[in-house]
Amino acid sequence: MSKRMVVIGGDATGMSAASTALRHSAEGELEVVVLERGHYTSYSACGIPYWISGHVPDGDQLIARTPEQHREAGIDVRMRTEVTAIDLEKQSVGVRGVDDGDTYELGYDELVIATGAVPTVPPLEGSDARGIFGVQTLEQGEEIVKDLADGDRRRAVVVGAGYIGVEMAEAMVVRGLETTVVDQASEPFTQVDPDMGALIREAMEGMGMTVLTGVSVDGFDVGEDGRVRAVRAGDTVLPADIVIVGLGVKPNAQLAADAGLTIGPSGGIVTDARMRAAPNVWAGGDCVEVHHRLSGQNVHIPLGTHANKHGRIIGTNVAGGYGAFPGIIGTAISKVCSLEIGVTGLGETEADAVGFGYVTATVESTTTAGYWPEAEEMTVKVLAEQRTGRLLGAQIVGRAGSGKRIDVFATAIWNGMTVEEMTFMDLSYAPPFSPVWDAVLVAARKAAKEVQGEIPASPV
Ligand SMILES: Cc1cc2nc3c(=O)[nH]c(=O)nc-3n(C[C@H](O)[C@H](O)[C@H](O)COP(=O)(O)OP(=O)(O)OC[C@H]3O[C@@H](n4cnc5c(N)ncnc54)[C@H](O)[C@@H]3O)c2cc1C
Repeated sequence: MSKRMVVIGGDATGMSAASTALRHSAEGELEVVVLERGHYTSYSACGIPYWISGHVPDGDQLIARTPEQHREAGIDVRMRTEVTAIDLEKQSVGVRGVDDGDTYELGYDELVIATGAVPTVPPLEGSDARGIFGVQTLEQGEEIVKDLADGDRRRAVVVGAGYIGVEMAEAMVVRGLETTVVDQASEPFTQVDPDMGALIREAMEGMGMTVLTGVSVDGFDVGEDGRVRAVRAGDTVLPADIVIVGLGVKPNAQLAADAGLTIGPSGGIVTDARMRAAPNVWAGGDCVEVHHRLSGQNVHIPLGTHANKHGRIIGTNVAGGYGAFPGIIGTAISKVCSLEIGVTGLGETEADAVGFGYVTATVESTTTAGYWPEAEEMTVKVLAEQRTGRLLGAQIVGRAGSGKRIDVFATAIWNGMTVEEMTFMDLSYAPPFSPVWDAVLVAARKAAKEVQGEIPASPV
């Protein structure tokens, strides 16, 4: 007899779980129903800033698979359909049509919670004015594209300088708007240490942006037409024709909490390694917390990289296979115009919080051989554990061609390498790609010297 898998949420985690489970099940063995309250399935929120900047000309390009394509593959996708409650005892969910308000109950044998995250929206005066946008869904991306096309927008204020904030700042600059970025932290992009954040600020200012840090937004001035006019931060009034709010997200875990599932300190649903939140109930993506392999703690780091893996693991398990999530090390990459930012492992604040003793090493290098006409600058910072020399973290801030080097550090951390072991790693070299001593090797060598406390004696 066929069993029914019900999936709440039709994006990265949900559709990946649905497709994987169906692919690994015998014909007729599994009925898969996906309930999605929005208009789209399998879309790339990651691409929204580049659609808004015009780099990706058409929003449809961000949709990997439409509901119709999923239906053709045998998945019963129900759009504009919201789950309002989960009954773990009855093994059913309460369902409501977003447009018609019709309600019904749907039983499940296996349930997947893939509800993503919700933006952090502080209760600021005037925040519901027209012209103020979050950037979480394709629908919001669409609204911003329309709004920019609609009128004479000259000044943009971006509230929040995390990765969505800086990517949206780029989009505004590319669209020709005078752009101000405001953040309450001491430097932009708190995923990296403040010394590296200062380089990002410098570069953003060099691109013509105004960067105001250590500044908290108090509210918004709204015109008589209901449209935002300015952002207020203490005594500072920043005139704005459009405001983008990118203050981070929190797990969308209320349904799970109401059903009695365990929620962790980060606010995410707690699962076991197989992404199981309770018997026959699975959860993954931005709505869960995950194990950090270095700190040993559970954290909420909402990224598409994790969401897709979670979906595949859940689908494998639902189909009777074995999948387990090995945890994360906090690897991410972003960019502001020509500046690339890469980060993996622990920064100083995180390493301090866990109690690691560590050394740091920062090096300046170039993306290619120094004499290469297109050589660009880059700064690499490395954290290594005191005494053992184990690589704990790395951060890169540099121009085009620098950022993806972060994956070498991520691979080294994943495999527990020391900076000493990294020093003579066989990395590729040709003048258009790197100096003969790539910045990765130079940073590792400098950190190894710091660990040893002295330059090692020559073996000959
Ligand atoms: C602007 C932006 C840029 C990003 N850039 C990157 C990047 O460069 N790299 C990276 O790794 N990650 C990036 N991310 C993060 C990445 O997009 C998310 O981690 C990923 O989409 C999470 O997938 P998910 O399936 O868990 O959740 P989501 O993609 O949020 O999908 C959840 C779905 O569930 C639906 N839903 C929620 N509640 C219900 C309910 N009760 N009933 C029915 N449906 C419901 C929602 O409508 C939504 O479609 C970015 C995100 C944004 C917003």
